[in-house]
Amino acid sequence: MTDSIKTVEHTYDVVVVGAGGAGLRATFGMAQQGLNTACVTKVFPTRSHTVAAQGGVSAALGNMGEDDWRWHMYDTIKGSDWLGDQDAIEYMCREAVPAIVELEHYGVPFSRTEEGTIYQRPFGGMTTHYGKGTAQRTCAAADRTGHAILHTLYQQALKHEAEFYIEHFAIDLIMDGGTCRGVVTLDLETGTVHIFRAHQVVLATGGYGRTYASCTSAHTCTGDGNGMVLRAGLPLQDMEFVQFHPTGIYGAGCLITEGVRGEGGYLTNAQGERFMDRYAPTARDLASRDVVSRAMTVEIREGRGVGEQGDHIHLHLEHLGADVIRERLPGIAETARIFSGVDVSQDPIPVLPTVHYNMGGIPTNHRGEVVHRRGDDPEAVVPGLMAIGEAACVSVHGANRLGSNSLLDLVVFGRAAAHRAAEVVGGRGKPHSPLPEGAVDPALQRLERLRTAQGSRTTAQIRGQMQQTMQQYAAVFRTGEVLEQGARMMGEVLRSFEDVAVTDRSLIWNSDLVETLELENLLGCAVTTIESARNRLESRGGHAREDYSERDDEQWLKHTLATMRPSGAVEIDYRPVHLQTLTGEVEPIPPKARVY
Ligand SMILES: Cc1cc2nc3c(=O)[nH]c(=O)nc-3n(C[C@H](O)[C@H](O)[C@H](O)COP(=O)(O)OP(=O)(O)OC[C@H]3O[C@@H](n4cnc5c(N)ncnc54)[C@H](O)[C@@H]3O)c2cc1C
Repeated sequence: MTDSIKTVEHTYDVVVVGAGGAGLRATFGMAQQGLNTACVTKVFPTRSHTVAAQGGVSAALGNMGEDDWRWHMYDTIKGSDWLGDQDAIEYMCREAVPAIVELEHYGVPFSRTEEGTIYQRPFGGMTTHYGKGTAQRTCAAADRTGHAILHTLYQQALKHEAEFYIEHFAIDLIMDGGTCRGVVTLDLETGTVHIFRAHQVVLATGGYGRTYASCTSAHTCTGDGNGMVLRAGLPLQDMEFVQFHPTGIYGAGCLITEGVRGEGGYLTNAQGERFMDRYAPTARDLASRDVVSRAMTVEIREGRGVGEQGDHIHLHLEHLGADVIRERLPGIAETARIFSGVDVSQDPIPVLPTVHYNMGGIPTNHRGEVVHRRGDDPEAVVPGLMAIGEAACVSVHGANRLGSNSLLDLVVFGRAAAHRAAEVVGGRGKPHSPLPEGAVDPALQRLERLRTAQGSRTTAQIRGQMQQTMQQYAAVFRTGEVLEQGARMMGEVLRSFEDVAVTDRSLIWNSDLVETLELENLLGCAVTTIESARNRLESRGGHAREDYSERDDEQWLKHTLATMRPSGAVEIDYRPVHLQTLTGEVEPIPPKARVY
């Protein structure tokens, strides 16, 4: 152990890393079940990225027209381009209805219909009668749904007396053979290192949008849980599937929710044409996100983009009227004014597809337990380790997530993980066996190595190169040649990290050090994303290859697993997609061609 760093030890039944929607739901669920629960978070809980979610959370409540959770399940499977695991999707869509009612009872201030029930808006890819009609399924609290949910969940967590360690940065997992025994964190305020021992560690660390130069996610979305998993020698799943949201504000990247199109907004090209009619005659502007993002990219490429450079698209909501905008989309009006100088009641918003969500992540089963290959079993549980939320890949979103299914994923699987942890841990205060000698040394050595790094490249330089490489070489459309070149360049960026310089040597509020720890996590995510994309020779959901433009179920109806060796080399393996349902009460939905 390093002499200069002071360490503090804790023992808990469970430690949740992350206090976004997923982490908070799991935290209070575990506390509620009597487990001695700690929640560690690098930002104050209500500053987690979940706070920025706008449009809403899906559930087949049927408040504003007929609906059925089976239709929701069908839409989610179809939206996933059949890469989603059908047992997990069945579980999520069925549990959605009680999960929303539960949120309402916890106090989420949802918008209301005239009758006083929860207001629901249409979102892309959500249909009735297995693709025939349009479902109004997305429950909304105006255009600030994530804000409303996150604050309510935090209140519940406080009520159930979970213990919070706020502004603690989790560095690495404590592994003992193949079992997770805890996590090592740095208290950013005091500079002390904390060793948390736990029977279960739950990673709820969110996405890794910041691998790209233009994304809608917060600066804190740096894939830290994914990085920790890679360093523990475990794989990440389906990393090639990155979602581009069609409507990021041109230049700034901030999100304009799909709820705008749900309320009647639409896109036009330089000729003022509603071009989505050509690409998706039925769903039009509410086709799923991969479809709309590709259509916009084609319009721009073929010279029909708007603006002086012809490099973006217009989103109209002028026709909705001031009342609808004030009541249903107040946040959007403000965002558009600040970031593009547009008054949405008068002019269209300039928009461009922007990285928004990571379908890939830490592979888990529908109980939240992390899985990996052991012998012939591709889905053996990693004892002591769980993952939920955007960090995880359950996989309910498959190759493409439908809008409003992520907030749902957080609460449903946050709750499922709490139940499973209670079962596995089997009661409060069970004894911990001693940690093997040197179990925390790798984490401490890494911290010390980076704190004293004396290379010649700044963290910002390396990060900038990574973001530009991903933006250009792992974009909406991909080809083998471009991915090959991108993978080579990412390899160089990764190697340049060995030459990183950290100038601040202190341990207290050392943002230079924290950004460097985050960068190492981002690099692991970036390299596995581009290598997984290079490996998958087909087009499916968010992964669109121009040189393999068809979906190929014979070869590629399988999940990618990417492991990273300490040398930086990536190894690829596969896991079968679950085409079976969970209860047998509903029939599985066999892969079909996509019709829009
Ligand atoms: C702008 C925007 C709008 C969106 N709108 C919608 C929507 O309307 N509907 C929908 O369904 N989805 C939406 N999404 C997607 C959805 O909001 C996210 O996928 C979801 O909120 C992620 O939640 P999470 O709990 O997994 O992680 P996050 O909310 O990102 O939280 C991550 C947590 O992990 C902690 N953490 C991370 N690393 C560390 C570390 N090293 N040490 C300690 N703590 C750590 C952070 O402090 C934080 O508390 C939107 C996303 C964005 C970016």
